Amino acid sequence: MSFRNFKMVGYVVYGRGSFNQLDEILKPQRKADAPMIFLVDHFFTGSPLAGHIPLRGRDQIVFVDTSYEPKTTQVDALAKQLKDEFGAISGVIGIGGGSAMDLAKAVSLMMTNPGSSADYQGWDLVKQPGVYKAGIPTLSGTGAEVSRTTVLTGPTRKLGMNSDFTPFDQIVLDPELTKDAPANQRFYTGMDCYIHCIESLEGTFLNEFSKSYGEKALQLCQEVFVKKDHWDEHSDDQLMMASYAGGMSIAYSQVGVAHAVSYGLSYLLGTKHGIGNCIVMNHLEEYYPAGVKEFKYMVEKNGIEIPTGICTGLTDEQFDTMINVSLGMKPLWENALGSNWEQIMTREKLRALYEKL
Ligand code: ZN
Repeated sequence: MSFRNFKMVGYVVYGRGSFNQLDEILKPQRKADAPMIFLVDHFFTGSPLAGHIPLRGRDQIVFVDTSYEPKTTQVDALAKQLKDEFGAISGVIGIGGGSAMDLAKAVSLMMTNPGSSADYQGWDLVKQPGVYKAGIPTLSGTGAEVSRTTVLTGPTRKLGMNSDFTPFDQIVLDPELTKDAPANQRFYTGMDCYIHCIESLEGTFLNEFSKSYGEKALQLCQEVFVKKDHWDEHSDDQLMMASYAGGMSIAYSQVGVAHAVSYGLSYLLGTKHGIGNCIVMNHLEEYYPAGVKEFKYMVEKNGIEIPTGICTGLTDEQFDTMINVSLGMKPLWENALGSNWEQIMTREKLRALYEKL
């Protein structure tokens, strides 16, 4: 047996207002006149947050379109644009939700690794460290701030650049930055964290490391979405730590059925990660009975609508595409259902599940 020896984030700063320390944090990372590039979710165009980014010299803010999840073509185009314009850069700072943070990680790696980001989709294919990279979440739940992957949709698959060079060198966890998130978005992304916890805690890969973080993250999610009647300032603090702990939990275990199925939706239909997981979780009583019951309670209590009928009218070929993408996520299925998962989750059974969504 070989134990996972995983690379973690380099530095972490946490606290309300810690974003104001960014200038000081970046200072030692600046190289001659090579600029820092801030990849910022387009949601913040013209916002006070954008105005507080500590620009120096030739630094640039690039607002990134996160209407769809990051694509390898988008990563390659951004890296090329930066190389053409600046030659060398000092670093890439991702500010936003999971998509903006994943884009920052991927662009950092593609500043130093040749070819296309599609060449590195998989496990441990990245050969060179990227340029300095920092992640600053403005939505809590994805765990992208701590993960060793950056999930990208490529020409043939949706898969991360999973490597020891992928984690951020620095993360800035400032709960103040999440206060203006739209309620729906906040819920879907928060549920991504809740689902990480359920999938990790109910999975066959569980160990005490994952359990310790998973239980804490689950408790924080429950305080925010089950116990409280209203969102308050403290909810931002709690959910930010839930996201971090949930990410740490799956770092040493794995996600499960909701993620494996939602990857198929996202590949074919472009369904975003948080909402896609919610659409799937809504129908997973058979696998996570207690978690799904509580999930449905949170949906109702928080007045959220989960879309239904999204697979209506799809062709056999389209169902097959989703099934192929989903069944390709072998470690997720093995964690969820055990080593004989292929006998349990047949193509027919998965098709029936997709038809319900
Ligand atoms: Zn997730």
